Amino acid sequence: MSALGADDVGLVRALERFGIRLLLHPSLSEASGAEALSILEDAAAGRLAVDALCVEGAVMTGPDGSGRFQLMPGDRRPVARWIETLAGRARHVVAVGSCAAYGGIPASGPAAADAVGLHYGGGLLPADFRAAGGLPVINVAGCAPHPGWLVETLAELALSGTCALDSQGRPRFFADHLAHHGCGRNEYYEYKASAAKAGDRGCLMENLGCKATQAPGDCNLRRWNGYGSCTDAGFACVGCTTPGFQDPGAPFQETAKIAGIPVGLPVDMPKAWFVALAALSKSATPQRVRANARADHIVVPPARRPGKTP
Ligand code: SF4
Repeated sequence: MSALGADDVGLVRALERFGIRLLLHPSLSEASGAEALSILEDAAAGRLAVDALCVEGAVMTGPDGSGRFQLMPGDRRPVARWIETLAGRARHVVAVGSCAAYGGIPASGPAAADAVGLHYGGGLLPADFRAAGGLPVINVAGCAPHPGWLVETLAELALSGTCALDSQGRPRFFADHLAHHGCGRNEYYEYKASAAKAGDRGCLMENLGCKATQAPGDCNLRRWNGYGSCTDAGFACVGCTTPGFQDPGAPFQETAKIAGIPVGLPVDMPKAWFVALAALSKSATPQRVRANARADHIVVPPARRPGKTP
């Protein structure tokens, strides 16, 4: 659903802009049944070249490694075996979403179905797996990933034949940012003017569990559907682009603290600095910012200085 809204033209046309042809998609393709299976069989046999195999969703490897909890419709072969075969043929392998990348929600808790991601950290494919193009599995992580991340990854592969990845296999063009960058609540963050409850306009880090200062992603820079983001909508960032985000060890919308200090502090900042900076910021918080942080609408507008512009 996320990918269908790619750009202003939808996924298929967005890919066509870069000369990319969709060979088969379970929902978008006209081919179904035997026709769809024959496309997969041609790809598996090497009769049909596949530049990028994109996999969405975790792979069920149970019971006992057989993969029979997840069978290909109309074929009855485990999906895990199909993926292994096609990954061995494709020039690039792309995991679309955090479930395909790292296991995600299906890998949470007691693993009855033995759900795994494709590669990173003990996934379906062997640790030394490299696709024919030389790259490990490319993790377009996120729950859901921004549609632009998928289109741009495929575009980069089509145009340059490669894609720069970070240490967890994510394309760097989005993973070198933090979800915190560009958040509409940045002024509240600067002054540590925090929301106390859902609906408040303040920063969500201190009380409501926001992990965006640690979460890779440019979600607040490129926005979704041209406008929104999780924090725009009032939801704390849960760090969905990170392996293991599904098991935070505390409620998603509460900030885990020790001695009143959030456990998850901004990356690149020593704890002592953060504590000192937070104390200084709180002592300097303008009354406007303090009041608005605990309200669901602007209650104190910015001051106007008569005769000055703007
Ligand atoms: S709500 Fe989250 S993303 Fe927004 S400013 Fe606060 S910490 Fe950053």
